[in-house]
Amino acid sequence: MSRSSVRVRFAPSPTGMFHVGGARSALYNWAVARQSEGTFVLRIEDTDTARNRPEWTQGILDALAAIGISADDPAFEGPYFQSDNAGRHREASLQLYAAGQAYYCDCTRDQLKERTGSEHLGYDGFCRERGLAFSEGRALRFRTPDEGETVVEDLVRGKPIFPNASIEDFVIARGDGSPVFLLANVVDDLDEGITQVIRGEEHLSNTPKQQLLWEALGATPPVWAHLPVIVNDKRQKLSKRRDKVALEDYLADGFLPEAMVNYLMLLGWGPGDDREIMPYEEMERLFRIEDVNSSPAFFDVKKLTAFNGEYIRALSPDAFIDACARWLTEPYAPWRADAFDAEVFTKMAPLAQTRLTLLSEITNYVDFLFLDEPVFDETSWSKAMKPGTTELLRDVRAAYAGAVWQTDELKTVLTTVGENHGLKLGKAQAPVRVAVTGRTVGLPLFESLEILGRDRTLTRLDAALLQLSNL
Ligand code: GLU
Repeated sequence: MSRSSVRVRFAPSPTGMFHVGGARSALYNWAVARQSEGTFVLRIEDTDTARNRPEWTQGILDALAAIGISADDPAFEGPYFQSDNAGRHREASLQLYAAGQAYYCDCTRDQLKERTGSEHLGYDGFCRERGLAFSEGRALRFRTPDEGETVVEDLVRGKPIFPNASIEDFVIARGDGSPVFLLANVVDDLDEGITQVIRGEEHLSNTPKQQLLWEALGATPPVWAHLPVIVNDKRQKLSKRRDKVALEDYLADGFLPEAMVNYLMLLGWGPGDDREIMPYEEMERLFRIEDVNSSPAFFDVKKLTAFNGEYIRALSPDAFIDACARWLTEPYAPWRADAFDAEVFTKMAPLAQTRLTLLSEITNYVDFLFLDEPVFDETSWSKAMKPGTTELLRDVRAAYAGAVWQTDELKTVLTTVGENHGLKLGKAQAPVRVAVTGRTVGLPLFESLEILGRDRTLTRLDAALLQLSNL
């Protein structure tokens, strides 16, 4: 199939982690590329970083693959590296100089401040007509038009208008001749034939400058789409210093990639009805960049967690077991590797599947099966071990020693023992649960006991009784 003329791109600057905002930009670009049978270009904007290329490129490819953007898909092109195009960036800066659209400037910051009385007023055009030639230390500035306005065609924000007089003669190459990011980004988009630039709102203020560069380079600017800022529960922009922003961290906490994708797609867009949980394929079909909202998008971890619970429950039993795999071994699992029993886990898994909202919680639910002794915490212990517990546990222990080891029977026995102590089943269960699993909440108790087995259950009841007698 030949691809359509639509060419979008995702252009991360490698930072060693993959920001959820970047993931959303990638997904929106991906949806546009795929629904138009166009092309999604991956460009690594690596000019400012000294980090090792294969390592961070692989990190980005892995993160993209995790959210369903596969380098093997026919819509995928790249990765390209900004640093590989450095020659063209320089060429473009010189082309602008040769055409009189850029000029050299030797003003220092202090001189500018002295003339304008402020650090914030922007460049005053002092060198515009001085006709300076290149020399080490002279920056190259773009000559912005004095009059008129630059209208940015933005599919999300309408047509923001920037009066040209308000756009300073900005630097396009530094004193050593190296082009700045603003120009490199335009030249790459131009060379890669990008038709739509879909990116975060923080780049909107660069856009009039970039549009002027496109025009000055004799090309038609792309259509722009600036995605709404993502904020936390205090309405602050998500920041890596304050908030959890790395996609990898969410995945390590046990969010399913599918749930992440679904939730990220809705950060600024919706299908137009009140549906929220939807397979990616359907969102891809319905997605329209024009329908993206410009107001800030709240990254609601509670809602994401609820999505995750739904996605977990929707997995097939086998897929659930596969999805848990990461947490069943080191460094997540608290048990010795040889203590893990896959058959036992497979029996318990369906009971856990309906209860989890994060896959990482799985260890808390099943650790009592694979640890020699349950993990007790003070609070659970003191909550469950009320006065009279010793007598109750002693009777339960005696009755369980001779009971048929089967879920229903174990329940009947405890019901009877509880009644003898004037306790409803719920109350009688609590100390047994803590003695055997270490926790006050968990999987259905009698199934748990059946799977744990008589010997280990009795041993744990004995240990709890001993503990109580020592108090
Ligand atoms: N490399 C820029 C960033 O990671 C993206 C620039 C763009 O999308 O135009 O923020």
